[in-house]
Amino acid sequence: MAESTVYDAVILGAGSGGYATALRAAQLGLNVALIEDDKVGGTCLHRGCIPTKAMLHSAEIADQIRDSGKYGVRSALEGVDINAVNTFKQGVIDRLYKGLQGLVSSRGVHLIQGHGEVVSSTQVKVGDQLIQGRHLVLGTGSYARSLPGLAVEGRVMTSDQALALDWVPSNPVVLGGGVIGLEFASLWTSFGAKVNIVEALDHLAPNEDLAVSKLLERSFRKRGIGFSLGVKVAEVTQDERQVTVRLENGERLGGDVLLVAVGRGPNTAGIGLEAVGVEMDRGFVTTDPELRTNVGGVWAVGDIVPGLQLAHRGFAQGIAVAERIAGQRPAPLIESGIPRVTYCEPEIASVGLTEEAAKAEHGQDAVETVEYNLAGNGKSQVLGTQGFVKLVRLAGGPVLGVHMVGTRIGELVGEAQLIVNWEAYPQDVAELIHAHPTQDEAIGEAFLALAGKPLHAHA
Ligand SMILES: Cc1cc2nc3c(=O)[nH]c(=O)nc-3n(C[C@H](O)[C@H](O)[C@H](O)COP(=O)(O)OP(=O)(O)OC[C@H]3O[C@@H](n4cnc5c(N)ncnc54)[C@H](O)[C@@H]3O)c2cc1C
Repeated sequence: MAESTVYDAVILGAGSGGYATALRAAQLGLNVALIEDDKVGGTCLHRGCIPTKAMLHSAEIADQIRDSGKYGVRSALEGVDINAVNTFKQGVIDRLYKGLQGLVSSRGVHLIQGHGEVVSSTQVKVGDQLIQGRHLVLGTGSYARSLPGLAVEGRVMTSDQALALDWVPSNPVVLGGGVIGLEFASLWTSFGAKVNIVEALDHLAPNEDLAVSKLLERSFRKRGIGFSLGVKVAEVTQDERQVTVRLENGERLGGDVLLVAVGRGPNTAGIGLEAVGVEMDRGFVTTDPELRTNVGGVWAVGDIVPGLQLAHRGFAQGIAVAERIAGQRPAPLIESGIPRVTYCEPEIASVGLTEEAAKAEHGQDAVETVEYNLAGNGKSQVLGTQGFVKLVRLAGGPVLGVHMVGTRIGELVGEAQLIVNWEAYPQDVAELIHAHPTQDEAIGEAFLALAGKPLHAHA
């Protein structure tokens, strides 16, 4: 039955993209309905960013205890109590979830609990209710993919099941050396597991600058993490005791768990999009740069829009769509300006173009790079990390990319993204004073070097 209210915006899915749209739209005085069949916060809060980062924090503590003797502190790691780790993780999620629910209700967003199906460009059916809006925003998110013919059951799992385990795998095999695979490989190693990663492309973190991937591979090797690169899985079998992965090169890997981390597909099937004529490409919703679909009044945000599947991209898209619905004209997002962090040990943080991408776009000779090694950075030496800050610039022009690897380096991405998005020139940043001793100083040093006046760097 149709509700009499006609909302300014009806939003399907309350993940990062959907709830950000709702909050901003409500802030702009629009009347908003937000439809969610699970929990507000979506993947990021309940099954993604937050739970993994909580576990990675426990993992960092385990590593620090293990290494404490190096720093003159006597302690011994008695073990990892995974139930206590899960309680800590759930506590973080619960607090944020409560805060988010409060925010949604205090902004006056009408939260409708249930599974929505789009029936027209202005109507969504939820059970026997018909929710009507002048604009419809699709934000139904993504699911963990598997390989063709590889069933997710028993010892074969995705991040969803891996996050819910109440035991620590002892020798997991991780399929996929991208962000999610690397984060699990890292945290399970810190918890005492012997991990093997299988990556079909030639490097771990294959979307990052090649220099970053190579340093990460050296660090992972030192941590005892095994990996097979440039090879695909031929067959997976499992019994009650173990899972066996046969690779196309004949190698066999046995483990108590196989984590399938081969990417995430869009949640767009069976929700009425075809009937309404929303254009899609392999299940992803195609949009113009302002996130309009081909159907008038229908918008899309978050992981269902082709591109980086990151929570902060969803937030930014949601804010922009809400503002457009309210009649404002925010600039379209520049995908390469979105900061990216992988929270394994060592962390990877990057923004802008890699050296390879910059050369492909601007020509081999039009790109200059500088790498500042963290060996010269005081705070990094205190923390005992290896790594570097790499800058990519257009010769004689602005900075195109910043690429970093090292313990805790993710926190530096804030400055890096200002530099790239403001199209700074090396001399602009070289003038700025960075506090000593911070890891942030490594960015300052890299810019001094790029501006032709290195301080703590060997020529
Ligand atoms: C293990 C893991 C770690 C991650 N770590 C990070 C990280 O550190 N940093 C980062 O930026 N990103 C991270 N991500 C990615 C991030 O979680 C996603 O990019 C983000 O959640 C996408 O937001 P979204 O709004 O598009 O979709 P989602 O968060 O997936 O939300 C979609 C929502 O829509 C609801 N829904 C779907 N269909 C319907 C329907 N028909 N009716 C009603 N409701 C519906 C779903 O229940 C869900 O709540 C991680 C992801 C995973 C899996």
